[in-house]
Amino acid sequence: MIIASNFKTNHTRQSTALFVNEVNDYIKKNNISSEVFVFPTATSLDSFEVVSNFSIGAQNAYPIVTGSFTGEIGTSQLDEFGIKTILIGHSERRHILGETQNKIAKKYDFYKELGYKIIYCIGEPLEVKNKGLDQTLEYIYEQFNEIDTKYENLILAYEPVWAIGTGVTATNDDIENIHRAIKEKFPKPLLYGGSVKVENVREICQIPNVDGALIGTASWKTEDFIQILENTK
Ligand code: 13P
Repeated sequence: MIIASNFKTNHTRQSTALFVNEVNDYIKKNNISSEVFVFPTATSLDSFEVVSNFSIGAQNAYPIVTGSFTGEIGTSQLDEFGIKTILIGHSERRHILGETQNKIAKKYDFYKELGYKIIYCIGEPLEVKNKGLDQTLEYIYEQFNEIDTKYENLILAYEPVWAIGTGVTATNDDIENIHRAIKEKFPKPLLYGGSVKVENVREICQIPNVDGALIGTASWKTEDFIQILENTK
């Protein structure tokens, strides 16, 4: 299993350090076979000393080493903290921050060339879901345009937009059908994200073709994230 926490715009530097240290201690003391990721805000990245199956990643960065891109960070800043994992294509960046598929693909290529582990997110908005499975899959497949899906360090995350932060988790049938279709076309580890909770994470992770979860809201309290790891170990 792969279990990832996306902090989005939550936590301070101090609370991130507490979270990471507690999770690290928990993983060290318990038999956790899952691969664990935490994605803090850019301001809370640090050179955390973590065990080997636990990585800290960046939620976002510009596809540049260093340069003039006001408000962005590049790999020279990530290198400072030994970050080698990045989230790309998250729905909030696509739909709220206006990242086009073309921009996302450029970012993907850049980080792929540097050997980063990439968690690449895809997922449909409600109006597309309401048109049925075929249209939903067509929409999702377009989110793979210009993306080299043969990349060895690629993990996919299916996150339906309507399930993110809404408390409405996709049904097990929806998850199973969409994961099967994505995996047939792109045989890579595939996480589910969208209102995963402490109470449903185990069941979701047992659905065929689900290789783990990418979790927002339910993962932000340390004790909840540890419980999620406990429920999926
Ligand atoms: P929620 O778990 O809050 O629905 O967020 C999911 C997500 O966007 C993780 O990247």
